[in-house]
Amino acid sequence: MEQTFVILKPSTISRSLVGDVLTRFQRKGLIISGIKMMQLDEKILREHYAHLVDRPFFPWILASMTATPVIVMVLKGKDAVNVVRTMTGATNSRVAAPGTIRGDFGMSGQENIVHASDSLESAAVEIARFFKPEEIFDYELPLMASLYAPDEK
Ligand code: ADP
Repeated sequence: MEQTFVILKPSTISRSLVGDVLTRFQRKGLIISGIKMMQLDEKILREHYAHLVDRPFFPWILASMTATPVIVMVLKGKDAVNVVRTMTGATNSRVAAPGTIRGDFGMSGQENIVHASDSLESAAVEIARFFKPEEIFDYELPLMASLYAPDEK
């Protein structure tokens, strides 16, 4: 099954939305394979947001993403990368569809609650950037038969 990488951004911590966001992923049926709190710094953010370092708003991203510790997660499930991106919604929370995490919890393009990997390739790179192998746990839930058909796993 696929793994994807998620950050609960400082806006989620500051606004006490950790439980709400985490609950959505769990209710969906995604398995939490890894989860921890960490303080991001400029070095890791320059790698993580390498596609944005030359944009004029990059200093704002740095300030925003270092404002509090974040919660990083590895979520596992069939098609997890696309499932989680769909749940996350469009980058700008104001236009993100209602029902998505950004659409329901945010009003900002920058302060948009979560990061989620945009492809299987990015997920692998991002998981390796933020997690040690021993911090990821490969287990299944007892209700797997209620979550998936035999050919879906
Ligand atoms: P996504 O997070 O949806 O994959 P991007 O990779 O384009 O989107 O952007 C990474 C993050 O940078 C966004 O989630 C958002 O927090 C921030 N960001 C993107 N565009 C802007 C912008 N124009 N102004 C401020 N912050 C932005």
